[in-house]
Amino acid sequence: MKIILLGPPGAGKGTQAKLISDKYSIPHISTGDIFRKNISEKTPLGVKAKSYIDKGQLVPDELTIDIVNDRLKNDDCKKGFLLDGFPRTVKQAEALDDFLNNNGSKIDTALLIDVPEKFILDRMTGRRVCTACGASYHIRFNPPKVESKCDACGGELIQRKDDTEETVKERLTVYSNQTQPLVEYYKNNDSLSIVDGTREINDVFKNISNILGSDK
Ligand code: ADP
Ligand code: AMP
Repeated sequence: MKIILLGPPGAGKGTQAKLISDKYSIPHISTGDIFRKNISEKTPLGVKAKSYIDKGQLVPDELTIDIVNDRLKNDDCKKGFLLDGFPRTVKQAEALDDFLNNNGSKIDTALLIDVPEKFILDRMTGRRVCTACGASYHIRFNPPKVESKCDACGGELIQRKDDTEETVKERLTVYSNQTQPLVEYYKNNDSLSIVDGTREINDVFKNISNILGSDK
């Protein structure tokens, strides 16, 4: 089961990725989480990535593609994986196809979580994320049981620096210019499925489970 999650920032990719990864026992690979970990550890990659992320721009393809290729070589990806936030450009999608092709495999499903732009600003500015495990909450739509604490691991919840109104607007422009063309790319590959991401979290997950099926 090799799955890609597509959709604008704030569509609910991270939220659904946790549920899918648990249900189907496949690793959840989020390039955003990988960059944030490197930023907090102040690695050379983190220092480079931060300047782009803080402005709402994409980290260059050369850096991003290598990180994902390395991650996909891990043994835990042999039975499948779930990519969240990658690919984000046609160049990244082509690099992923090449990598998988060289290993005799391909993407099974590119799942677009479809959410119109008018919902996004509310979702992003109300988002709170766990500093320990990356789980995503929302102050109104999906609040934690205890304020500022992650239900899953007890970690501290914070607001992401790139979830301000100004940066969100830039990220939406970047999405429509650079990432939206991937919808056509995966449609042409016959691997695109679309779910309505405006429904409640559990309903979206039910629809995704119907598309992916019950098999592990
Ligand atoms: P992405 O990973 O696509 O950027 P997230 O999964 O972090 O998006 O979700 C963005 C915000 O929207 C979070 O605050 C999350 O709790 C909230 N959210 C996710 N799915 C839904 C939904 N179906 N309805 C309402 N809010 C949602
Ligand atoms: P996310 O956590 O998916 O919202 O990603 C946060 C930020 O990390 C994005 O706004 C980009 O700056 C950067 N990023 C994440 N994934 C990628 C990618 N595949 N290509 C380029 N930049 C990325």
